[in-house]
Amino acid sequence: MTCHDWKDMMMGYLDNELDQEQKSRFEEHLKGCPECKKELEQFKNIKSITDEVTLAEPEDKLWADYWNNVYNRIELGVGWIIFSIAAIILLIFGGFHLIEDVIKNPSVECTLKIGLVLLVVGMAVLLVSVLRERLYFWKRDRYKDIQR
Ligand SMILES: [Zn+2]
Repeated sequence: MTCHDWKDMMMGYLDNELDQEQKSRFEEHLKGCPECKKELEQFKNIKSITDEVTLAEPEDKLWADYWNNVYNRIELGVGWIIFSIAAIILLIFGGFHLIEDVIKNPSVECTLKIGLVLLVVGMAVLLVSVLRERLYFWKRDRYKDIQR
């Protein structure tokens, strides 16, 4: 085998694609041939550069994770908004149903009716905000454990 033939095998050698016999024969040739050895070093340098480029790829994954995270947060935000609206609607309707008799009663003063309506609305808003706060801290505590 001439040096030219060995050069064709260099990339295969560096990529660990040669079988055991080819590998040992190539290494044997390297011992007695400084020219091929030098060329192999050059190939190694090229390979390490291309490997570095390949290693830079995980950054794409970081960006993907980042956007995933942003998307999750948006999703979570939208989820909360819908949940809050639903909770407020249910509480207001449920509350109104409870005080319906009082509101429909003509002998009850108007101020008292307004007060009752505001009470139901206020309770609905408060309950949702307390619930959101609880879940927010609960979620944050869990993330804290995972991150550490
Ligand atoms: Zn050689």
